[in-house]
Amino acid sequence: MKIIDIIKKYEHAYFISPHYDDAILSAGNLLHALSKILPVSVVTVFTEIGMKPYTLSEKAFMRQCGYKDLKNLYVDRKNENAKILDQIGINRIDFGYVESLSRKSPHISDIRKALSSVIPEFNRLYPTYRFHSVSGKIASSDNETIGKIKSTLIDTDAYYHTNHKNSRLLVCPLGIGGNVDHLIVRTACAGSGLPVIYWTDFPYILKDKPDNKFLSDNNLTPLSYESDNTTKHEMIRQYTTQFMPLFKNKPIKFVTEEYYVKL
Ligand SMILES: [Zn+2]
Repeated sequence: MKIIDIIKKYEHAYFISPHYDDAILSAGNLLHALSKILPVSVVTVFTEIGMKPYTLSEKAFMRQCGYKDLKNLYVDRKNENAKILDQIGINRIDFGYVESLSRKSPHISDIRKALSSVIPEFNRLYPTYRFHSVSGKIASSDNETIGKIKSTLIDTDAYYHTNHKNSRLLVCPLGIGGNVDHLIVRTACAGSGLPVIYWTDFPYILKDKPDNKFLSDNNLTPLSYESDNTTKHEMIRQYTTQFMPLFKNKPIKFVTEEYYVKL
């Protein structure tokens, strides 16, 4: 069974990318091949970022990307993503959620609110990148975020697909590496009731493994998509704001794209 043959049966494939670069990084080869076969959209879920004052983790991220203002960085991220997807004829949808690095806690005390004007970490749901954003633990107040994303996924283009409930396919991350935004997207897709195929998160798959419990709970089987990486490499290089933080100017160590499917 080939992954392309499975996906070809659907009318439209929606790649649900947590951040601007994730779909191309993890699934660029498959996306590129599918773009010639059926309508494909890339939905980016977390496309917004916070304002000053910045947390230490936000400052560190800006520094790595070579920016002094997060808003400017995110305008450039949006534009570079648009340019890359336009080149291969992929439709784009941005959901506009704030990413974990800047997400505010919905319920904080007045004291914490007051302190946060000086130390912004006090009003954040995930105050640090290292100990919170990539901890693999979704904060309980993000259950509301998951619910909203799930509804938006179900509603997206539903009008065009009302006659064929299963004509839409979602392709989304397994959440390898423990980034909470990736896990939130996985949870929302898995709970949407729509058919889902999962990608292995790159480059995080180089260091981490899929969550075996999730694989067995969802009866998922691995399927590889073999392809040469020339076009994918060219696309990844064009995410210029992320190239340094992700690859530190070293050659990219590509692996075969692997997907998990319920057969
Ligand atoms: Zn990401």
